[in-house]
This record gives sequence, structure tokens and C-alpha cells, in this order.
Amino acid sequence: MDLAELLSQLGQIAAGYGLAVALEWTVHNLFFHRLGKKKGSIFGFHYHDHHRAVRRAGGGDPAFAGSRLAWNGYGREFWGIVVAATLVSPVALVLPVFWVTAVLSGWHYHVVHTRSHQDPEWCRVHLRWHWDHHMGKDPDTNWGVTNQWLDRLLGTRQAWLSKEEREALEGPARPAAARQAS
Ligand SMILES: [Zn+2]
Ligand SMILES: [Zn+2]
Repeated sequence: MDLAELLSQLGQIAAGYGLAVALEWTVHNLFFHRLGKKKGSIFGFHYHDHHRAVRRAGGGDPAFAGSRLAWNGYGREFWGIVVAATLVSPVALVLPVFWVTAVLSGWHYHVVHTRSHQDPEWCRVHLRWHWDHHMGKDPDTNWGVTNQWLDRLLGTRQAWLSKEEREALEGPARPAAARQAS
């Protein structure tokens, strides 16, 4: 392999991964929340079903422990990635490394998102931004799932701590009367 070919392949890997990170943020923000919030939207499975299930289960989503063939938030996310990868597959004829990297990154997203709702404690510790997206005060922040880079860059990363976590860090809040007396 000559240098030009090597650089082309490294460029394709960077572009494929970069596209996946950008899509993760954009699709989540634009399609799943902005459009998905509207009643009857074909993207409603994320905002109305997935978010509600996670709040109810305290971080998990029972659908994510089920089958990928089920017509729910879990199955639709999986098939969405498969259909998108198939539709753009002709790109592989020109830029094979780019296409493979983007598809592997999409698969990585799906595996990470699945684990985060099968094992909520793992999500709370290792995927804090996604925990904050679901469990925090404002679900219209923290759009990244596999990483928080774009949210940090664009100012949409909003860290959040539960009351218990705040108390563990600062000690329990004292009642106003006790504060005045001291
Ligand atoms: Zn969401
Ligand atoms: Zn989620």
C-alpha cells in the first residue's frame, strides 16, 4: 500500500466515524425529539415510548431486554440502522472503508444504547450524559449516546445530579430553621 492509499483509508475511517457521531446527535435531536414529540409522529417511539419507559423503570427499558424483531422502540432503532446502512450501501462501491466504518459505528451505538438500558447502573456510572438525558430535568439536552463530545462542543451537555447524589457530595441540606439558629 502506498502512502496516498493509506492516507485515503485513514481519511475514510475518520469521515465514517465523524459522520456516525454527527448523525447520533442530529437524528436524536431533530427526528426523535423535535419531530417525535408531535402526536402520531412515526418517530414517536423514542420520545413517547422509550423516554416514558426509562423514567418509569428508573433507568432501564424492558423493551431493550426483549427481541429486536418487536415493533417497539428497541426493534425500530435496530431496523432503522439496518435500513439506513442498506440504503447507502452503494457508497461502499466508491468508499468501502468509509461505509464499513460508518456501519460499525452505527452498530456500536446500538450495542452501547442497549447496554445502557439493560444495565442502568452501568449507564449511570459510565454513560453519564445519557443517564442525564433520561433522568435529568431537561430531556432536550445531552443528545450524544456513545460520547458527549458534540454536546460539549455545542453547549448542549447539561450535567445533572439527583438529590441523593448531591447529598452524598455535600451532606444533607439543613432545614431553614436550623440554618438560622447556627
Ligand atoms: Zn431522547
Ligand atoms: Zn436511551
